[in-house]
Amino acid sequence: MFFQKYFPRSFCREYVEVKGDSSQFSMFMATVLGIKPLMDDWIPVAKVDEFKKVCRKYRLKVREDIIFLGIPKDKVSSSVLGKEYITTTSAFGVPLDSGIDGKVHLFISKDRSLLKKGMWYPVIIKGRMIIQPRIDSLKYGYALGYPECCIKFYRKYNNWLKFSHLYEIYRNTQNKPSFLCNPFLKDTSFSYIYHMPCGYDCFQTIKLAGRLRYEIEKRESGYVRLTDKYLKMPFLVFYERKFYAFEGVMRGRFIKYNKVYFPSPDKAQDIYGKVLAEGDSLELQGMMLNIYRKNKKIKSISIPFNNNFAPEYPFLIQFF
Ligand SMILES: [Zn+2]
Repeated sequence: MFFQKYFPRSFCREYVEVKGDSSQFSMFMATVLGIKPLMDDWIPVAKVDEFKKVCRKYRLKVREDIIFLGIPKDKVSSSVLGKEYITTTSAFGVPLDSGIDGKVHLFISKDRSLLKKGMWYPVIIKGRMIIQPRIDSLKYGYALGYPECCIKFYRKYNNWLKFSHLYEIYRNTQNKPSFLCNPFLKDTSFSYIYHMPCGYDCFQTIKLAGRLRYEIEKRESGYVRLTDKYLKMPFLVFYERKFYAFEGVMRGRFIKYNKVYFPSPDKAQDIYGKVLAEGDSLELQGMMLNIYRKNKKIKSISIPFNNNFAPEYPFLIQFF
C-alpha cells in the first residue's frame, strides 16, 4: 500500500532488508547519524542475529528486552487484569529463552550506557497487564532525544480521558504548520519525527527534524522527496487513531481531493474512508462533515463527540 514501504538505495538498506518492512526507517537512520540517542524496535526472533550484525556494521549497540506476541485488542480475554491500559501495542510478553516465536523488543544506541534507559512497553505477562512506572515513562522522552517543550506538553495533554492531544497541539500552534512537525505519518515509513510536538510549528522540533532531513538528503534523497510530499498533504483529524490524508488542497474549511488515505495503524477506526472515497471535496463545519461530489452534497455526517474516552475535536490541517 501507499505509505507502507520504502526501499533505500544503499544507506541503511540492510535495516529494511532484515526487517522486511521500513517502519521506523528514519528513526534508525537518526540513530546511526547520532541525531537520536536511543530507539527501540521489534524484530522477529529468527532475524535477531542478522539484525545485530546490521547494527554492528553501523556501530550501534543492541540490548534485547523480551519477546512480544502480538494479539488483536478485542481478542484479549476479559480476565486479564488491567486490560483497559492496553495501548496501540497489544501483546503477551514471554522471556527471551522461552523458545517461542514472536517479535523481540530491543533497544538500539551508539552509547552502551544509554541502553539501560530503555523502557518496556505495557505487556501482558501471566494474565496481568504490566505497566512501566509513571516516572520511567516521563523520563523516557529525554532518553529518546525528544525536545523538552514537547515532553512537558505531552505530560499535560496526553490524557485520553480528557483531551484530544492532537487538537491541543493545534490550539497551541501560532504560525504556519511546518511539515517537519507533522506527526501523522509516524507509524508509516515516512516521517522525520516519532514524538508528539508541542505545536505544529514547534521551533525545537523543526530544528531536530530539519537536521535529520538535511543529513538523510545527502545519503538517500529519494526518501526525502517522498516524505516531504506525503507530509505536505492535507489531513482531516478526529483523534490519535482516526485521521485521513488526501491528495488534494485545503482551502479554509474545505479540502478538494482526488484520493483519500487512512494512514493510522488502527484500521478498525476507518469508518469514513468509504464515503470519503465517493466524494471529491469535503467541508468541516464544527462537528459537521459534509462530503461533495461535483459540487453536489452526497453525505452529511454529524460527528459524535465521544466523551467517555478519546474525545474527538475534528480539524483540518495542511503543513508547509
Ligand atoms: Zn516542542
